[in-house]
Order: sequence, then structure tokens, then C-alpha cells
Amino acid sequence: MKYSKFGDKFSSDSGIVSLMADLGEALNVNPDILFMGGGNPAAIPQVQEVFEKQLSTLLEDSQRRHKMLGIYQSPQGDEAFLDAVAALLNEEFGWPVSSKNIAVSNGSQSAFFVLFNMLAGEMADGSHRHIQLPLAPEYLGYGDVGVHDELFRATRPSIEFLENNQFKYHVDFTQLSIDESSAALCVSRPTNPTGNVLTDDEVQHLDRMARQHNIPLIIDGAYGTPFPNILFADAEPHWNSNTIVVLSLSKLGLPGARTGIVVAHEDLIKDFTNANTLACLACGNLGPSLSTPLFESREILRVSNDIIRPFYKARAELAINKLTQSLAGLPCFIHKPEGAIFLWLWCDGLPISSQTLYERLKRRGVLVVAGHHFFLGLDEPWQHSQECLRISYCLDEEGLEQGMAIIAQEVHRAYQEA
Ligand code: PLP
Repeated sequence: MKYSKFGDKFSSDSGIVSLMADLGEALNVNPDILFMGGGNPAAIPQVQEVFEKQLSTLLEDSQRRHKMLGIYQSPQGDEAFLDAVAALLNEEFGWPVSSKNIAVSNGSQSAFFVLFNMLAGEMADGSHRHIQLPLAPEYLGYGDVGVHDELFRATRPSIEFLENNQFKYHVDFTQLSIDESSAALCVSRPTNPTGNVLTDDEVQHLDRMARQHNIPLIIDGAYGTPFPNILFADAEPHWNSNTIVVLSLSKLGLPGARTGIVVAHEDLIKDFTNANTLACLACGNLGPSLSTPLFESREILRVSNDIIRPFYKARAELAINKLTQSLAGLPCFIHKPEGAIFLWLWCDGLPISSQTLYERLKRRGVLVVAGHHFFLGLDEPWQHSQECLRISYCLDEEGLEQGMAIIAQEVHRAYQEA
């Protein structure tokens, strides 16, 4: 088949495509695999109960049922949902937003596809603009979404070493440069893959830089504040009219609902809505139908803060204890887990590549994600990018212990071979 440049680019393999293929294999086809790979949220029974209750109430109401199944959602999103999300952000967090500042997307991944390609790539005057990632490593799902090549540039972080073989990345503001070809800054907070949470000072600094250069700051809050709030460090939710915050219902436990939420200046929301309507006509109704009452009653915040956050905090502690003990004596460091659902392991001087380590683990029935996928946008090779693994801690305790033990064995083996 002869394809266009777009067809060639989008039909070829990429990090996120192989990650989702692994996820499909482990979660839908072969459940014996110890799945510590893709970002599927954990099944948390108390959270499932909340959504199941909403679903059965919804199904009993013929009008709501018809609205969910039989009517296209309005282009910007379901009106009651937009109002409920705006009221929550406004009343609970003081964000100066109304429903005009909010749009729904079919998952936040598709919102990023639209936003990045609207802002960057080939411009009307023939010039090229890019999205600047202030800190690599960043979410691999951004990597190949550009209709035009080289959509991203990234800045290497500085590394702070901490106690107990932990470390933390910081934005290296001495290296972060913005010029006329920069279209936007973008960070995930907490960061996928590392569990890093940019400090409030870092966010304020990025916000100032973005405003000085008249470009937006995009904050990907898939794991962050205000919901699902998988944060173990203090962090203020940040928004102003120069910021585009992209939220999602996925990590609350609803990845199947495919619902993303864009919060931005109302002009951008209008433009985003037009582009999103071209791409998908209308968004799915399941997420808004199911969650509007939870936004209205603020139960979404209770579920986030009292159930989801403590659940992942406990998992993170278990995972880090297990891994730290079993890697003792090796030059291995774990990024301080400040949020999200992953541990980020750095094996300094690892004699094999992160891809080889991933493959060896896969052969032993443990799926993780090789770290090199997350270093998109760097202009120079960096050995560090070959020395890291992303490990999800969503498995149950027994699976987590087994998986961590196998990971530690393979890391020991790799160093011994050298
Ligand atoms: N952003 C980050 C940081 C993610 O980890 C993910 C998914 O794993 C997404 C965005 C996309 O999520 P969704 O499309 O399910 O909203």
C-alpha cells in the first residue's frame, strides 16, 4: 500500500504503540504476565464501587440512558459536565474559570495530538516551531504525535542525589532556552515516567518564562492535582489564562471511558473544539454521564484524596522497600516517588542497554518499559537514557514482590556479566 508522509509516519512503530501492544497482551490476552509496564491504573475496589453505583443509577433513568447512548455530545462537551467541572475548579481551587474555559476530548492523549499539532510544526510562513519540554525524561506518549517531524525539544535535568540511593531531577534553568521557534512549554506533573513532581517554584518560574515569551505553559495533570491527585509531595494546582491544563478521568480508574478535559483560555478552547470536532465529530458520553454527579457533589475529590492517593502511596512504599533492599550494593538509584504510579530506576553504568534489560525481563514474564523511550527531544546522546527502567506499581502485593525480585535478579546478572 502506498501511503502519504502522514500515513507512513503514523502507521509505523513507535514507543507508545509497542507499550500499548504489551499492555493489551498482558491485560487482555495473557494474564500470567507480571504487568509492570503501561500506565493502566490499579483496580481499587472502593473506587470501582463508586463508579458501579453511578452506572447503575444512570442505567435506571431512561432519559439519562438515552442521553448517554442516543445523542451526540455537543462539540465542546456535555454542558452539565462542563458546568460541574468549572464549578469545582472555581469554588474549590479558586481558578478563574467558567464552562467557556473547558473542553472535553476522547482521552487526554487525543487532546495532546490536537494541541501539539495546532501550536507547533510547520507554520503558515514556512517556519517551524517546536514544543519545549523543560525536563527530559517526559511522557513517551507525546513522542510521535507530530504530523511534522521534530516536534519536541527537551532540556536535560540537573540531578540531586538524596539519601537511601534516591535522586530527584530538577529543571536546569541555566540550560532551558526559549526562542522564537518555541511554541509552548509542556510538563507532566507528576511526571510520567519518573514520579517527579515539579516544585511550586519551578512551575512559577516556567509560568513567568512562558508569559515573557508569549507562549502557553501546558501542564499535563493526568496523575495530578486536582484529581486523581496521586501526589505524595506538596504541590499547588496551577492555572492562569496563559496555562493549558490537561486533565483526564483515566487514572481515577476510568481509562475505558476515554475522557480528557482541557482547561484553557476561552479563545483556545474555541479553536481546540473546532479541531477536535474535525478529528472525532463528538466525544464519548460515558465519562461525562458517569462522573458529572461526582463533580457536582465533590465526591471526586474525596475519592481522589481519601482512597486513590493513599492506595498508591502504600504501593510506592512497598515497591521502593523491596527494590532498594534487593539492589543493595549496586550503583542503582530510584527517583524519589512523589506521585503517579511508577518507580523510575536508574542503574548507573549498566553494562547492557535498557532495551536489552526490558527484553530479558519480558522473557522471564515481567513487563516493564525501557527508559530510552522517554528521552524524546534531546539533541545529543546521553548515556543515562540507556540506563533507566520504568516500573509500574499497580500490581497486587504478591505480584509486585515477585516482579521486583525478578527485576533485581536481572539487574544483578547484567552487572556481573561486565
Ligand atoms: N499524559 C500522561 C502523563 C499519561 O501517562 C497518559 C497515559 O498514560 C496520558 C497523558 C494519556 O491518558 P488518557 O488518554 O487515558 O487520558
